Amino acid sequence: MPRLLDGLKRSDKIIKIWLTTNGTLMPDETLLPLMRDPRVCVTISDYDALSSRKAELIDMFERLGIAYNVAECASGGWIDFGDMHERGRSWDETCKIYKTCRACSSCNPMIGDKLFPCARVARMDDLGLRKAESCEYAALEADPERTRRNVEKLLAADGIPCCDFCDSWSGARIPAALQ
Ligand code: SF4
Repeated sequence: MPRLLDGLKRSDKIIKIWLTTNGTLMPDETLLPLMRDPRVCVTISDYDALSSRKAELIDMFERLGIAYNVAECASGGWIDFGDMHERGRSWDETCKIYKTCRACSSCNPMIGDKLFPCARVARMDDLGLRKAESCEYAALEADPERTRRNVEKLLAADGIPCCDFCDSWSGARIPAALQ
């Protein structure tokens, strides 16, 4: 982790580095000086009593001047995005879901030479459960210009077919630690 964080900080292409903890472990001592950086911010996912070291972490971050925030996670719990059957929605409905889905605005996973708009489409593709269509990822190519065009095309998409294989945020809530 210290090597990874150090490497990320050396890149001037990286604007912000978010580290997430569930508040159960204290960071390694070697990590602390690297975390005291305007580009680094720690999010403590707060699961009430389960986040047993939250108070210690907050105290440490305050003392050392490390930026952090606390995200309340206990009441909302986790969301069941459903199984992988095709729901049969129209393309318009599917696009509407895509545009309102926070999963695709907050996390863009990269697996191998593909950048995906959300973890669900990435994971399905990676596990071989549903092959991602070419419109559902940006191919990361050796030529940076081509890669840039691929990413721009993905970002401009109105929707992705995979959203019709997903319940999105309407799925059932599952209490934290039971997911
Ligand atoms: S597949 Fe599901 S999680 Fe991914 S963007 Fe579509 S609705 Fe959101």
